[in-house]
Amino acid sequence: KVPVPSDIEISQSCIPKPIDQVAREVGLFPDEVELYGQTKAKVHLSALERLKSQPDGKYIVVTGITPTPLGEGKSTTTVGLVQALGAHLHQNVFACVRQPSQGPTFGIKGGAAGGGYCQVIPMDEFNLHLTGDIHAITAANNLVAAAVDARIFHELTQTDQALYSRLVPSVNGVRKFSDIQIRRLQKLGINKTDPATLTKEEVNFFVRLDIDPSTITWQRVLDTNDRFLRKITIGQSPTEKGFSRTAQFDITVSSEIMAVLALSDGLDDMKKRLGRMVVASSKRGEPVTADDLGVTGALAVLMKDAVKPNLMQTLEGTPVFVHAGPFANIAHGNSSVLADKIALKLVGKEGFVVTEAGFGADIGMEKFFNIKCRYSGLRPHVVVLVATVRALKMHGGGPAVTAGVPLPKEYMEENLQLLAKGCSNLNKQIQNARMFGVPVVVAVNAFKTDTKAELALVVQLAKEAGAFDAVECTHWAEGGKGAVALAQAVQRASQTPSNFRFLYNLELPVIDKIRLIAKQIYGASDIELLPEAQEKVAMYTKQGFGNLPICMAKTHLSLSHDPEQKGAPTGFILPIRDIRASVGAGFLYPLVGTMSTMPGLPTRPCFYDIDLDTASGEVKGLF
Ligand code: ADP
Repeated sequence: KVPVPSDIEISQSCIPKPIDQVAREVGLFPDEVELYGQTKAKVHLSALERLKSQPDGKYIVVTGITPTPLGEGKSTTTVGLVQALGAHLHQNVFACVRQPSQGPTFGIKGGAAGGGYCQVIPMDEFNLHLTGDIHAITAANNLVAAAVDARIFHELTQTDQALYSRLVPSVNGVRKFSDIQIRRLQKLGINKTDPATLTKEEVNFFVRLDIDPSTITWQRVLDTNDRFLRKITIGQSPTEKGFSRTAQFDITVSSEIMAVLALSDGLDDMKKRLGRMVVASSKRGEPVTADDLGVTGALAVLMKDAVKPNLMQTLEGTPVFVHAGPFANIAHGNSSVLADKIALKLVGKEGFVVTEAGFGADIGMEKFFNIKCRYSGLRPHVVVLVATVRALKMHGGGPAVTAGVPLPKEYMEENLQLLAKGCSNLNKQIQNARMFGVPVVVAVNAFKTDTKAELALVVQLAKEAGAFDAVECTHWAEGGKGAVALAQAVQRASQTPSNFRFLYNLELPVIDKIRLIAKQIYGASDIELLPEAQEKVAMYTKQGFGNLPICMAKTHLSLSHDPEQKGAPTGFILPIRDIRASVGAGFLYPLVGTMSTMPGLPTRPCFYDIDLDTASGEVKGLF
């Protein structure tokens, strides 16, 4: 249709197939599928077990040039590509995408279900509660937070003996350690199982985590953009008198539990990662974990359904897994390992799984390779790099844009000079992908303002930069049909041998790993470690976390640390302000500048336009 209707109008004009039919079509058995109404289902991990001897399909990752406020269309292209491969070229396909946070849905415009004629449907279900995974994360995260403060409170208000008798209660005259308590004793080097035999000193060790409140890194979370919770004081009631401290709320999707969910490769692995999460240091400088707090089992219980990927479909009826949505700066920004693994089995050897990595190739793709693929053991066949003429013009020096104001003429009229200059960013991101030994196909996502000459120039420059192929696509306006040429290029690229390699070995010192990413991927000439970061390198290395992969928390708006620097800057020194650890998820995250973990609402939030038609029950105005 011309003009293309709004995303929600397109989504609602299409009647989805019953989701149990989609499940049957992809080869799932009825007992592997848990229906959540007509359009969503959870898939049991037993499917992975059943299919474990099947060969995997081809693994395709969609990434992009450095994002600009003009939008690049990675999600739209992910959906367009699977619609083309599945509905037009009749291949077995699966798209694996992230679940969006509810915060932005009601805050600043921008869904994550794709757009135009390439969407995951029903998009309102996709963008709202889905099957409750994010709510489960909120619950689990806040249980840990409550456990931290309650533990400090109890330890400070009770004697060793009183704590001991409450932590190891006597049942019918017999005291017995729970499994989690035996684990804690072993960690402390106390190999005893009979509570009656602990010495006074051992009791003291056992009952006191001795959390240093100034080292608490675990925050409470909420899936709402609520800026007034960025810094709060807790413990103000008379019952917690003397225990007030400054704390904060983050948005749920920034919780380490979200990153754990995304990186786990099974229930047991998830439970172990949850137990390893570090919440603070003790006064002796030792890491205090969720396991030390005794909360691991309860967390696993809260997360037992969230670990199952959610099955949905595209506008053209091809299958989609929506699962996990970690931040792409303080976390790795990729959908779940489990969804990818199940999908790769379901499509079979000749099929295709298209998964999306957040932000630009310097961030989402680098983390996809160095973190996600390292943990999953999966090896990618093709990188699809999404670029748009408008965004490349901004990288070439085009003017800034303001929301709600018409775009400057540079973006509405042909300007080959600006475009050619901005292709420096595309060039660098192509090199970044090639550094990992994987062929790159550039998808030039066409907007109606792009001219023929502009689209041709991007294709030409991408090929000259070493892309396996570069293809113009019109899937946003035309659906899968508009991405058939892209799909064919991906098919060809997937036949070429991929010589995948990681950028760094885990055994390298922390600083060397950070320097390698900064120099090779961002184009920095060196890094500079500020004092806090230096201290953390020493501390994490001492605590035994030095061999974790690195997850850079850098602005996504530039290859450098300065969001204003477009194109492909070089010669800069990347400052590392601080380093934090997500030990359970399994990475260290250096902070390059400040990262907001709780967005705010704009003056006119999206919720002004969101409404419910009470007669039909239809959701209105969601993008
Ligand atoms: P990303 O995943 O890179 O953040 P999305 O795929 O979510 O980008 O797209 C961002 C926005 O741009 C969406 O609202 C989408 O509908 C819109 N969009 C994407 N491609 C096009 C296009 N070719 N023409 C017009 N709008 C588009």
